[in-house]
Amino acid sequence: MSVSVNNELKITKVICGELCQSNFCTSEIVNLLNNDNGEIAANVSTKFDKFVDRPQELPDKIVDLLQIAAYVFCADRSAYRGARDSLSNKSWGRSMYFEIPVNDISFWSSDEVIHTLENALGFMTGDRQYHFTFIKANKNNIKDCEYQLSLFSNATTSIDVVDKVDVMLFSGGLDSLAGIIERLNQFPDRKLCLVSHMSNNRTKKTQKALIAELQKKYNNRILPYFFECRFKKLDSREESQRTRMFLFSAIAFAICSCYNKSGFFIYENGITSINLPKQTDVMNARASRTTHPKTIGLLHEFYKIFDANFKIATPYFKLTKEEIVDVFKTYGEEVLIQSSVSCSSTRNYHDIFPHCGCCSQCIDRRFAMYATGLAEDFDNTFAVKVPYDKLNKEANQRVSSTLLFASNGIGETKYDFLKNYPTELLDVISYWPNSPENSLDEIFQLYCKYKDSIQRAAKAMQASFNSTSSQEGSFFDRISQKLDYEKCEQDEFEQCVESSVYVIENKGNEMRQGSGFYLVDYGVLTSQHLTGNGDFYYISNYNEYPASFETISNDLNEICEDDVLDYALYDQYCNCTHYFRIGDSDTLKIGDQVKLIGFPNFIKGDSYDLRCTEICKKTNLFGAPLFAVTYNVFHGASGGIVLDKDNRIVGIIRAGIETAAESDSFDKPGFVPINLVISDIDKKGG
Ligand SMILES: [Zn+2]
Repeated sequence: MSVSVNNELKITKVICGELCQSNFCTSEIVNLLNNDNGEIAANVSTKFDKFVDRPQELPDKIVDLLQIAAYVFCADRSAYRGARDSLSNKSWGRSMYFEIPVNDISFWSSDEVIHTLENALGFMTGDRQYHFTFIKANKNNIKDCEYQLSLFSNATTSIDVVDKVDVMLFSGGLDSLAGIIERLNQFPDRKLCLVSHMSNNRTKKTQKALIAELQKKYNNRILPYFFECRFKKLDSREESQRTRMFLFSAIAFAICSCYNKSGFFIYENGITSINLPKQTDVMNARASRTTHPKTIGLLHEFYKIFDANFKIATPYFKLTKEEIVDVFKTYGEEVLIQSSVSCSSTRNYHDIFPHCGCCSQCIDRRFAMYATGLAEDFDNTFAVKVPYDKLNKEANQRVSSTLLFASNGIGETKYDFLKNYPTELLDVISYWPNSPENSLDEIFQLYCKYKDSIQRAAKAMQASFNSTSSQEGSFFDRISQKLDYEKCEQDEFEQCVESSVYVIENKGNEMRQGSGFYLVDYGVLTSQHLTGNGDFYYISNYNEYPASFETISNDLNEICEDDVLDYALYDQYCNCTHYFRIGDSDTLKIGDQVKLIGFPNFIKGDSYDLRCTEICKKTNLFGAPLFAVTYNVFHGASGGIVLDKDNRIVGIIRAGIETAAESDSFDKPGFVPINLVISDIDKKGG
């Protein structure tokens, strides 16, 4: 894989096992040792110790796989991605270069193996790049270990029993617990091997208690397999743990090969797996992809290289979380719901209330429990008691965006849906086990069920609510007010765009088209490079285009302009009834969400082009400050409006500069901050 290296691309080199010269870790070099290497002490603890009876029978390449997965997981945790609003936001996408010693070098040096592995990890993590160099090992780390006891050494797992064992991943959450209950009930003569990862004492405790409960109820038909993998002497800095699924699946794969099985199960509902970004964070690249159909598809491709018949089954992909809760009802196991933990918050852990109530997993669970009518009786495990208690700001936003997504994020038809999420859905469809058209149908149906479920849950919360016990800012407040409010807000937004963001074009031989908008108390603002040539330009509301209602030109009504800041202001008030208010661009930070609205390549009947993106850099273009954004800005959007998260004007889109000398501006899509424009206008006597 070729790499273009520039100064901004941060590369983390990860040196593993016997190749390490030290056990230090910096942001550039991470040294990972599973075993002491001479004088150098191990810094990674992996416990595959009770894995196989006769380790010499585990193929080398599978021993290597476990080792690689452990290194990748630890490297993932050591290379920090940066806080969301910090200046190091760019470090979110990392480039990881691994050097790993392996036993089966002929297998691991194959291009297909390396390429498939790099692809799977790249998608799963959202990182820029994974790059692997494998080197022939001199020492055989796992096989030389002294603690080789066997998972299978206990008397119950004779060969014919093993025949009746299924392998599944177990997270301790609601979905995998439902999967266990369903399998144990549907297949009363089969056992289940549950593969779990001990990430901390809290999950360990919860999972062990739950398994003990299940053993009692289901006649010891569970074979738990816990593994550990963690840093010994370092504090793990990165909490997102996106490579967890690789480690998890590698263990399950290795267990399958011991049992001579050609597949394992992952029970996770489709909505959580697909994890479409909600409207308020459309460009949030951080949405988890742990069980995304593409992640599972790419992992499947990888494991097929080891075993052509290997399968990863995901029986719950077509179900919503509400339907998962229904599984507990079906088998009369509602009481077990409280023993499962969905919460992803690592802070504020509480023994009695294992759910924080505020993270997105907690909120999803709450909605699902209300939709099924079980919330009040079977799930009192929340530290913040929704819908009654006051939620923090982030949780409030999550509730709002969930409701908004259910009310209008999905669309009325599958084609609306596809239009709302073209790239995200394409990723899902490509790995959905059906033809593209049928896949889109199935995924749309899944989301329709979800929409219905959220709306019923909201009504159930309202119905169960007793106003005397609520606090202001509670979940309930959100539910009842937000639905009306969001609708009004959305209508207001549409009216503002219709009324105050314009298509601007001349009607000469050489048609030039761009965008402009109404800046309250000043006039019509557009790009100087668009209208600066002295032609007459016509202003249209996009929904009435090509009819225009006003004309602007240099001589006729220009108030002022600036070619460095690239704006031109015209004396036009447009009888604008709805317009966006002016915000403060000085407060914008790297990573802040902004909306860019303009009319690139506009033709009659089109709608406006809205890009939700984020500020990735503060830079300069032709001597003027420019806030670069991650999304491409297309020609014709220049002169368009830039809004902050509260829909206040914070800039004017700068793009589509036409002369060859300026062509590199395409590398820097962005906008000029509105405060600079306004202070220039004020100076020039606008
Ligand atoms: Zn939580």
